[in-house]
Amino acid sequence: MKTKHTAGADLKSVSINHRNVLALGQGTWNMGDSTTNRKTELDALRTGIDLGMTIIDTAEMYGNGRSELLVGEAIQGQRDKVFLISKVLPSNASRQGTIKACENSLKRLQTDYLDMYLLHWQWRYPFEETVEAMLQLRQEGKIRDWGVSNMDVAEMEEFYSIPGGNTCAANQVVYNLTRRGIEYDLIPWCRKNNIPVIAYSPVEQGRLLNNKLLSEIARRHNATPTQIALAWVIRNPGVIAIPKAASAKHVEENFKSLSIELTEEDLQQIDSIFPAPTRKMPLEML
Ligand code: NAP
Repeated sequence: MKTKHTAGADLKSVSINHRNVLALGQGTWNMGDSTTNRKTELDALRTGIDLGMTIIDTAEMYGNGRSELLVGEAIQGQRDKVFLISKVLPSNASRQGTIKACENSLKRLQTDYLDMYLLHWQWRYPFEETVEAMLQLRQEGKIRDWGVSNMDVAEMEEFYSIPGGNTCAANQVVYNLTRRGIEYDLIPWCRKNNIPVIAYSPVEQGRLLNNKLLSEIARRHNATPTQIALAWVIRNPGVIAIPKAASAKHVEENFKSLSIELTEEDLQQIDSIFPAPTRKMPLEML
């Protein structure tokens, strides 16, 4: 899907929770930890919102709530523009624990609702308990929708077998050029069930950015390796990338990946260096 940006460009977009949003959002892991960087980080997040990268992904885990505090400050006065995602830690994911954790996140984020609340990964609480809590939170208006993270096809099917579990509205998993396992079965499963995939660590936490092939492709597009790595992730319909960028300069650079169309030649070269999976791979997690 494409959306016309105010500047006139056609940008990749995705429908999530009945909202059309740009396919590039903003991650915030390791942000909010340092007072020295605070102004720069706030500026980065606000620059992204101004550009239309309105999905902001945080979690109670990140810096023990410090990322949520930073995001809460960044979105003051513009909450309605933002598609806000947070996550409950598996150790809090009991029925009551999920509700309490969500309320604490809302306080840190200085808002009264989340657009999406995710179970961060699976641990000891039965999925039924977490789903019941998610449905209650949704009914009370504290969350607009709920989803999961780090769940493979088997877990998604387990969720779908629970009453209300098929209202799960997103799955956030690691996906980038070096971690393509989900192309084999999870992306097709999510597409079939109309669930957007939110790709985390889309530039492999920065480790991809000096890649020779990406630099070569970037030259052809008058772009940077980061932009090519991101354009590749969001080439799939229904996939959203949430790179973490702690400066306005990086955010602006990443934004441009929304209008890059990779060619057949680019994709073939990429496949020769970063091959697509040919069999089921265990779901990776960072
Ligand atoms: P990432 O987004 O792949 O990489 C972040 C790194 O890339 C940072 O060091 C950042 O540097 C750098 N970077 C970004 N844009 C750049 C640019 N234009 N030029 C140069 N460097 C650039 O890794 P991530 O933070 O692990 O993943 C993204 C988000 O996904 C997280 O922040 C978090 O919200 C989410 N996540 C979720 C899970 C989960 O279990 N659900 C797990 C991991 C991550 P600067 O900071 O200096 O800009």
